[in-house]
Amino acid sequence: MHRSPWRVSLHGGHSGAYCDHATGTLAEVVQAAQEAGYHTFGLSEHVPRAEARFLYAKERELGWGVDHLHALFEAYDAEARRLVAACPAGFHLLRGFEAEVVPDDRWLELMQGLRARFQPDFVVGSVHHVAEHIIDGPAEDFEAALQACGGLEGLVVAYYTRLAEMIEAFRPEVVGHLDLIRKNGHRYGDVDTPAAREAAGAAIEAAARTGAILDLNVAGLRKGLPHPYPAPWLVQAAHAAGVGFCFGDDSHGPQDVGAGIDAGRRYLLGLGVEAVSVLTRDPAGAVVRRVASLREEGEA
Ligand SMILES: [Zn+2]
Ligand SMILES: [Zn+2]
Repeated sequence: MHRSPWRVSLHGGHSGAYCDHATGTLAEVVQAAQEAGYHTFGLSEHVPRAEARFLYAKERELGWGVDHLHALFEAYDAEARRLVAACPAGFHLLRGFEAEVVPDDRWLELMQGLRARFQPDFVVGSVHHVAEHIIDGPAEDFEAALQACGGLEGLVVAYYTRLAEMIEAFRPEVVGHLDLIRKNGHRYGDVDTPAAREAAGAAIEAAARTGAILDLNVAGLRKGLPHPYPAPWLVQAAHAAGVGFCFGDDSHGPQDVGAGIDAGRRYLLGLGVEAVSVLTRDPAGAVVRRVASLREEGEA
């Protein structure tokens, strides 16, 4: 099978074995990635949340606790290592995780501890919480975040400010869904006010300074959003600042794997981005960063 060097996802590969809101086994997800024609597929399972107050409703219903989340993550890491070692020639698998920024007072030491212990090939740095309230989940949580920040503009600015801090302090290889605040925020008003744009600009500058790759996250397309994350103006601003993009299918089961990547490619090309910045493996198996043209051979 021909595997285009640009066909890389660095965010996704969640599976039902280790995540309450995903389906399938990790082996099935990786099989789907091979069949979808990926050149390189990055696994970024959610890190275990450190305190019971951050468990999701469904996890509580299942009777899960913090210890169980940790056991699941260890099992994920072991299975990911096995699958990396079993990869066929020409297809590359990267073992990573998606970090969190809770609790407010010690997320950084927790994330650095996980990185030191599991030695992942890469990490995705994401902000899913502001003032310790989840911002991409149920409306009641989003509204608690709104209240904590004194309204929508305050929340959007706080989101991007936390994102910039996370990028500078944790230095993830990949920044997850740059404008995730849009997901719920757009229902409450304008998430692109001048103050919001300034704060988003600071997050882009942090990515430029640290060399982070931005996740061109196509999960929104599956959920009927008009465009992937980030929005067009953010893609253009980041591109102008010299920041690279890589696709993320944010797959939560075999059925999601590869979905939206071709639309994501057209989206980037339409905004003047001709190449992606990918992580992959060299022949010796070491993780390397490369620039891959989005144009297929013979395509103008
Ligand atoms: Zn998830
Ligand atoms: Zn995420």
